[in-house]
Formats: sequence, C-alpha cells, structure tokens
Amino acid sequence: NQGLGSWPARRARMTPGRVALTCRGHDFTYGDLRERTYRLASALGVGRGDRVAYLGPNHPALVETFFAAGLLGAVFVPLNTRLATPELRFILEDADASVLLLGEGLDGQGLPGRHILAAEYEDLLASGAPEPIDEPVAQDDVCLIMYTSGTTGRPKGAMLTHANLIWNTVNLLVDVPLAHDEVMLISAPMFHIAALAQTLIPAVLKGGRAILEPSFDVERTFDLIEAERVTVMFGVPSMFNVLAQSPRWAKADLSSLRHLLCGGAPVPLPLISTYQERGLTFLQGYGMTETAPGALFLGAEHSVDKAGTAGVPCFFSDVRLVTAGGVDAAPGEPGEVHVQGPNVMSGYWRRPEESAKVLSPDGWFRSGDVGVADEDGYVRITDRLNDVIISGGENIYPAEVESVLYSHPAVAECAVIGVSDDQWGEVGKALVVLRPGATAEAEELLKHLDGRLARFKIPKHLEFVPELPKNAAGKLLKAPLRKLYGS
Ligand code: ATP
Ligand code: MG
Repeated sequence: NQGLGSWPARRARMTPGRVALTCRGHDFTYGDLRERTYRLASALGVGRGDRVAYLGPNHPALVETFFAAGLLGAVFVPLNTRLATPELRFILEDADASVLLLGEGLDGQGLPGRHILAAEYEDLLASGAPEPIDEPVAQDDVCLIMYTSGTTGRPKGAMLTHANLIWNTVNLLVDVPLAHDEVMLISAPMFHIAALAQTLIPAVLKGGRAILEPSFDVERTFDLIEAERVTVMFGVPSMFNVLAQSPRWAKADLSSLRHLLCGGAPVPLPLISTYQERGLTFLQGYGMTETAPGALFLGAEHSVDKAGTAGVPCFFSDVRLVTAGGVDAAPGEPGEVHVQGPNVMSGYWRRPEESAKVLSPDGWFRSGDVGVADEDGYVRITDRLNDVIISGGENIYPAEVESVLYSHPAVAECAVIGVSDDQWGEVGKALVVLRPGATAEAEELLKHLDGRLARFKIPKHLEFVPELPKNAAGKLLKAPLRKLYGS
C-alpha cells in the first residue's frame, strides 16, 4: 500500500509508543492508531473505490476513518457540520457514499445511506480484526473527495489522490521545518483541506502529536497553548484575529509556539504586526481545496520584508498570473492565479464540464483568484475575481480596502461589497463590526481611509452591523452580505 492509509502503520514501526492524537484528555499512541485503523477497515464493509463519508467535528474517529478508507483503497468524504440537512443530502447523493459515519450527538436524520452512529463506533472497532490489511493502493488512486468551502456557491467535490496529498506534504516540509516532537493544535475543522493536509497529515508523517479540538474557542486555545506547550497552530486569519483581541492576549504565555500557519483568506497587515510585536511570525500560505491545498508560501525568511504577500510558488508547484487577454501579467499587473503541479486535483467528482472549465489539458488549474506579483515574484492575492468591484472602469479589490479599515482601532471586523450606483456603475459599501465598547462614526472611519487609499477605492457607503456571516471555515461569505446589504 503506497497510499496514506499505510501511514499509521509506517509511523508505528518507528514510534509505536508515542502519542499521535489527544482529544479531550484521551491519548492515542501510534500503535493504537495502527490497530484501530486496521480494525475499522476490516469492519467497515466497504471496498476499493467506495466512498466513505464522515460527518462530525474533529475527533479521533474522523482521523481513523480517513486512514481506514485509505487502507482499503476507498475514498474518504468528510462533510461540513455547519451545512443544513438538504445541503448534506445533496453532497451524500452526489458522492454516492456507501456509508456515513456520524460524530457524537448527530443522528443522521434525513440523510441517505447506511449510518454508523458514534455510539456504535467502539463496538464496530471491537468487532474488527487487528491484523494488517494488505490491499494494493497506488499513489494515483483517489484518496479523498473534499467538497470546497462553498464560499462562492454550491460546494464541488475535488478529487484528490494520495500523490496530491503527499506532494503537498513535501511542499510544506520544504518551507516549514517540522520536528518529530511537534505538538499541533488542530481546532480548524478537518473537513476543510488546510487542517487535514497542513497539520494532521504532516504530523503523522513526522510522528508529532495532534491535539484535536471539536471547535475553535478562544479560552480553550489559550489554555491548551499554555498547558500543552503547543508548538504549531493552523488558523484562518479570523481565528488569529479574535485571539489577538482577547483580554488574555497580553498576558498569555505563547513561548512554546514555533510555527503559526495562516491562510485560507487574505491576512490583514495590522494582524501580522500585532503578532510580530509578540515575536510571532505567520507563515502565510495561499491555496485551495483543488490544490491540496498549498500553492504559494511565504516562509519565515521573508515574512517581514514581504509581509502582505502570500509568497512564491511552493517548491514543486508552479503559478502563473494570467491577464484577461490570456497572457502572463507583468509585475504589478493583476492576473488570475493559475496553478500547476503534482498537488493539483484530477478534477471535480462527476462534473466533467466544471472540471474542463477550470483544468486545462496541460494541467493548469484556474483558481478564480486575482493576484499581483512584485519584481521578485512575490504574489499578493488581491481578491476573488467575483468579488472585484468595478467602479467607473477602475478595479477595486475589497480585500485591500478591508485591510486598511482593519488598521482603525475601533474596527473588529469588516467587509466591503459592491453596490450599484447610477454614476459609477458600482461603488464600494463597507460593513463594519465595532469592537466591544468602541464607538466610531461612519465619517470618522471613512476619513481614516482618506490618504491611505486612492479616492475611487474609498467606499461611498458605510454601515455598522452586529456581525458578519461566515462559513464553517471562518471565511466571510460575501454572497449573503450582498443579498442583505447590497442595495
Ligand atoms: P468555493 O470554491 O466553494 O467557493 P472556497 O474557494 O472558499 O469555496 P476553499 O478551497 O476552502 O474554498 O478556499 C480556497 C480559497 O480561499 C482561495 O481560492 C482563495 O480565494 C482563498 N484564499 C486561500 N488562501 C488565501 C490567502 N493566503 N490570501 C487570500 N485568499 C486566500
Ligand atoms: Mg474555491
């Protein structure tokens, strides 16, 4: 078995007694993980190519199901716990899953197929055989169908092979010198690619310990960092933002942290400097489900002088910025980010037309994101093509405007959307959540932008809102914002 399913056994050959997973006070060693994945694989009742779905927050069972499916040459399909029943039903039917494993407290009502409840899970393992499973699995076999976050529309199932995930791990290790003794806090959900591929998978490869948290909680995060001496964390910017805004931020002992991996959304510059002031550096990455996920990476060496960029292409991947005219963008000129490499998906599951739209015959994937490279090739992700506001013929990248708004001390969160305008076609509208206890007038915030941004980029409207809609990955959802405030 050349796939990821064999990894717990390969690791257990070296370090059977080392703790692999910690969850709510329970430890599982690599020896345990090996045995439990064999047991699960033998009891699961699925075969090569079958889809094995898992619905639930981070938990050892999710990890075991991932590796057990890999042992059998089956395909793991993790599901987002924040989706509503009809959305889950759509994905389960789309993936045509043979079995659905459910996390604690979930009954699977209204969902198709055979279910395995959390309460039945340990009995299922006990009924399985602990002997090695010897199914031939090639690295080009599909390992995972991961549905995209659904930020821009209905999620699509990206088919990722074992090789895609292995090359992503190699790309990551080129930039992040993970040691054998890392303590990784995984509180971003593993049904999204980053937590799975940028923390769990490399942790197992190196023999580190992953602390699995069912959800992200500020107090818990500080408690765990201090008590468990956490060395590595992955988060989307909004997670790091709430940590920095917590009253505990100033006093927390963060001295154990070695690597902070941040990606999934644009990282506002003020956030980078807030962490810098505590001696903490973000390792910024840009990627997406379809590229398993790493495409660009900003290593520690240039984290200060190239702050705000997502870095250069990962070692084994290539990135082009392509203009609307279909040619390579010059430095300083925006272009759509295209990615090629051994980490790029083989296509969307059962969506040949959608796949053909984004994958060229020579393997370039069109991301739908806009980026600008500087003279040294460092790429700043400016925004999503769909979110770009065109005002009087000028492009406004909301992420840039948001980043400047964030530098105002009263702003806790913000988003800029385009609204139609008789004179300009479209103008920007800022939606702002104030920090608790802070007060500010719209005028004052807009004045703060004056001089920091070109006139045409300054939103014509600004509204205070109690909160901003986000998906389970913590990403801002612009579509519902446009619906709510777009007129
Ligand atoms: P969907 O494709 O279903 O609309 P999604 O694109 O949010 O959802 P993901 O694959 O989880 O789903 O996220 C990838 C996207 O996240 C990228 O295409 C990009 O827009 C954004 N992104 C990721 N990393 C960064 C980054 N460092 N800076 C800016 N944007 C980023
Ligand atoms: Mg996407």
